[in-house]
Amino acid sequence: MRKMETTNMNEYAPQPAEATPVTVIGLGSMGQAIAGAFLAGGHPTTVWNRTASKADALVSKGATLATTPAEAVEAGELVVVCVLDRDAAQEILNPVAGLLAGRGLLVLTSLSPTEANETSAWAAQENIAFLGGAIMATPDLIGNPEEASLLYAGSSTVFEKHKAALALLGTSTYLGDVAARASLLETGLLASMYSMFAGFFHGAALVGTQGVTAEEFTALAVPWLKAMTTFLPGQAEFIDKGDYTTDVQSLAFNKGGLDHIIHISEDQGIGTDVMKPIAELIDRQVEAGHGDDSLARLIEGIKNPKA
Ligand code: NAP
Repeated sequence: MRKMETTNMNEYAPQPAEATPVTVIGLGSMGQAIAGAFLAGGHPTTVWNRTASKADALVSKGATLATTPAEAVEAGELVVVCVLDRDAAQEILNPVAGLLAGRGLLVLTSLSPTEANETSAWAAQENIAFLGGAIMATPDLIGNPEEASLLYAGSSTVFEKHKAALALLGTSTYLGDVAARASLLETGLLASMYSMFAGFFHGAALVGTQGVTAEEFTALAVPWLKAMTTFLPGQAEFIDKGDYTTDVQSLAFNKGGLDHIIHISEDQGIGTDVMKPIAELIDRQVEAGHGDDSLARLIEGIKNPKA
């Protein structure tokens, strides 16, 4: 993977006089936020949406409403598509493919890695410079580089040419030319988030059995989880080397910890649905003779699921 490149709005705030014309197709809650950020950054912004009335607020702020997707595409040097899903995006893009050559196409509709690669292949066939993106933010955070993160993969030419405009949306990270990577990284980050939340919910349920409120628990959980994230780079090193040799906190040690959590949870009468799969992953590695290795070896059980 090409080294990740991150930019933010402050470094690349464009001068309105130089701002390139942009087009936003799809004005759901996310498309409206994106078009609003381009407008606020001084870009001539043309918009199109299946339901035209959703453009009203943007038009009142200076956006131009196109009557057809073709008219919208012709107005923008960067054409951003942010409709519901791949089928909706492709339905709009197929008839205007000929008009997209020579412009940058950025699809911010959520795509699976396979869909992103298929869209990339379609774009290459049509001679369209294509950049795919994944938005790690809700619409209200768009325009705030501290809180909105956008991942991009695909054409480096589109990314480089339009990085000032993209920086208006949030902090940009370019992940290289394989379009699937934005979606893959997004999914990896979301998987990490959901597992963390589920662990937190388990903890809150456990302490709740003795009358501790979730609020009290959170006051301790936040600094604890923050401190634990400092161990992630070390775990990444084990994983990237593929060598899990350690002399601290082995899998056997962690097995004791997980068994303890499950035992206490059962004792307190709460479920173990969150913790049991983790214990099972540890057990599989210990049973396979890797008890002395680092906890990071769990990734081997995830990469090679039980038959
Ligand atoms: P949304 O508010 O539900 O809006 C959906 C948009 O897609 C509307 O503009 C809708 O047009 C359009 N659309 C749906 N089917 C269509 C079709 N067949 N032909 C033409 N247009 C069609 O969704 P959103 O929140 O803006 O999300 C847009 C994309 O951003 C999604 O892929 C989503 O996963 C991604 N995203 C959203 C968030 C978020 O927090 N909202 C975060 C990250 C990523 P009409 O107005 O005419 O119905």
